[in-house]
Order: sequence, then structure tokens, then C-alpha cells
Amino acid sequence: MDTNTHETHQFVSTRLRESGQLYTKGRQELVELLISADRPSSIPELLDLRPRLSQSSLYRNMADLESVGIVQRISGADDLTRYELSETIIGHHRHTICTECGAVDDFVVSQRTERSLETALEKALSDTGFQTTGHRLDVLGTCVNCS
Ligand SMILES: [Zn+2]
Ligand SMILES: [Zn+2]
Repeated sequence: MDTNTHETHQFVSTRLRESGQLYTKGRQELVELLISADRPSSIPELLDLRPRLSQSSLYRNMADLESVGIVQRISGADDLTRYELSETIIGHHRHTICTECGAVDDFVVSQRTERSLETALEKALSDTGFQTTGHRLDVLGTCVNCS
């Protein structure tokens, strides 16, 4: 996903300040790491990218950023929890999940397809009384490395 680093830092800094928290160096490093990872990543994967970071502070900063909505967790096909910057920052998108290695990647569906998807879901659920507030769509398969 395209992420403007400067704007992202501004946004995160404001969001944290509004919650009475500081944009510490550790949190800045984590946001940079998530931008450079460019896909939903687990804590071990992030540590591989930046081995000098301490695992415990990475977990703590991730939890802090998650609690203010800067980071969201992604559940994949395995037990690893992966994280990415929230859609407010990186934009609305979908995930492919590799059922072999568990890799999760981002992709974007056209606005038009998103709208017809919404319409189709509302139609399908119109008799159930269920109030839709959104939906999830993950695509399962094998990634380029596994196929
Ligand atoms: Zn794979
Ligand atoms: Zn994503």
C-alpha cells in the first residue's frame, strides 16, 4: 500500500496526543517498521527486519498503538497474529491469505466492485433483520512463493 511517511507520523502523533500519550521514539520506530514492512506482519517478522529492537518493547508499543486505533490486528490462516497500520492511514483494502505459509498480503478492490458487493450483501440479508455495518473479505489460496 502507498503510505506517505510524513503524513502518517503527523496523524499518529495527533492521535496519541488526543489520548494523552506521547509519540515516543519506540513508537515512531514501530510505525516506520510497519510502513517499510508494507504488508501485515507478525512481531517475529518485524524483529527479523530490525533485530536490534527489543521484543518486549515492540509488544508494548504495538498494544499501545492498537488501543488508540493506529494499528489493527489481522487474523490469518495460522496462529500468528499479524499487524498493520489502520485503514484510516493506509486506505480501505482486502487481504489474500496463503494457506501454505500463512503470508498475508494487501490488495485493493475497485470502488465500483466494493459498492456492488455492499448492495449484494444488503439484498441477501434484507429479510433477516440483520443490520450490516461492514464486511470482511479475505481471499484464500497459495502465494507466489508456495505455488
Ligand atoms: Zn505462501
Ligand atoms: Zn492490510
